[in-house]
Amino acid sequence: MAFQHCFTDGRSNGLSLGKIVCVGRNYADHAKELNNPIPTEPLLFIKPSTAAVSLEQPFSISEQWGSVHYETELAILIGETLTKADEADVVKAIVGVGLALDLTIRDVQSKLKEKGQPWERAKAFDGSCPLSVFVPIDQVDDLQSIQIQLTINGEVRQDGNSSMMLNKIVPLISEISQLFTLEPGDVVITGTPAGVGQLNKGDELVVSLVDLLRVETSVKVD
Ligand code: ZN
Repeated sequence: MAFQHCFTDGRSNGLSLGKIVCVGRNYADHAKELNNPIPTEPLLFIKPSTAAVSLEQPFSISEQWGSVHYETELAILIGETLTKADEADVVKAIVGVGLALDLTIRDVQSKLKEKGQPWERAKAFDGSCPLSVFVPIDQVDDLQSIQIQLTINGEVRQDGNSSMMLNKIVPLISEISQLFTLEPGDVVITGTPAGVGQLNKGDELVVSLVDLLRVETSVKVD
């Protein structure tokens, strides 16, 4: 599936989705709720483009997976190639902000963590990254003061602010680019605030970047 990156104003800029670079434990309150230590350097992992599905459509979780957790995250769309980029280059390369759910099979991840094994089985499977349309960056006043919210069935579950990130977005992307070249169409998802929990079939979700983007979606009952 060619997953186009559309903007809220309808443009797609011809960008098709590349890899999704993710940072774990980027909010102290979330690291704490899972009894994880706060990392001394960004904890990075990657979801392939095949992990993405449209957040605007109802999405599926499989009962065979076990407990699937949501993590609501601010997503950054990259529009230029970044290799060992400095912060000024990163600022120029960011073309939009959106919302991602970093779906995680928590029991599987816990077992992998115990054994010191990679997380892909828990984090990179097909459908593990419902991803929204993007708000053009010129509509964003300050990347580090965006309120990120999730309600499920009318109840607020996550309510965080990008000001609480341990690794701020621009230096984080610069650091990522020291290791992994980012290409036009790649997305960086920036970690989840506290309040993660299990998804259930039929859940109705409202995911938002306050004053910028609001998406209603649901977990499919199949
Ligand atoms: Zn995450």
